[in-house]
Amino acid sequence: MKIFCVGRNYADHAKELGNAIPEEPVIFMKPKTALWQSDTPFYYPEFSNELHYELELVLRISKNGKQIPEDQAENYYDAISIGIDFTARDIQAELKKKGLPWEKAKAWDNSAIVADWLPLTDGILSNPIHFTLLKNKEMVQMGNSSDMIFSFNKIVSHISNYFSLNIGDMIYTGTPAGVGECVVGDLLEGFFETQKMFELEIK
Ligand code: MG
Repeated sequence: MKIFCVGRNYADHAKELGNAIPEEPVIFMKPKTALWQSDTPFYYPEFSNELHYELELVLRISKNGKQIPEDQAENYYDAISIGIDFTARDIQAELKKKGLPWEKAKAWDNSAIVADWLPLTDGILSNPIHFTLLKNKEMVQMGNSSDMIFSFNKIVSHISNYFSLNIGDMIYTGTPAGVGECVVGDLLEGFFETQKMFELEIK
C-alpha cells in the first residue's frame, strides 16, 4: 500500500504559505508506517515545535493501473474519506529553505490520519464536497472540493504517469486554507459534509 499526497491543490492555501500556484500537481509520499491506527494514542512528535493539521479529502484506489488517461481515471477509485496530513511545519520550513526533500516534515510515524471509507457514489461526485475541521469545537478549516486546482481525475492520471497505482493505495488530495498549529491537549474533529468522521486528541 502506498500513500500519495498532493501539495498546494487549493489556491488560498498555496497563498497562505507564500507558495506559487503550481502548474502541475505537486506530489509527495508517506510510507505505510505513517498511517495512524485509531485505537492508539496520537503523540505530539518530539522533534517538532510547530505541528500543523491539514484536513484533506482522501481517495482509495480500487483498480491496478498505470498511465491512466484522465477520462478513465474515475474507474480507478471507489471510496472517499477525510484525513489529516500532519506536518511538522518548522522542519518543513528548514527543508524548503535548503531545497531538501520533505519526508522528515511529512512522512513520520502516525502523520497520516484517515477516517473510515465511504463508498464513492455518483451522487457524491456530482456535487461539491464540503469538509470541515473543528479544533476544540471551533471551526478552523472549511474545504470545498470545487476549489481544487487539480481534479480527482487529473490527480489520479498524473500520479499514474510516474507510479503504478495499486488496489488499496490512498491519495490525500490537498488541504484548503486555514492550516494551523495544534498543541498537546487539542481535540480535532473532522466532518465530511455533516457527518462526523473522526476525533483525535493530541497527547
Ligand atoms: Mg497536505
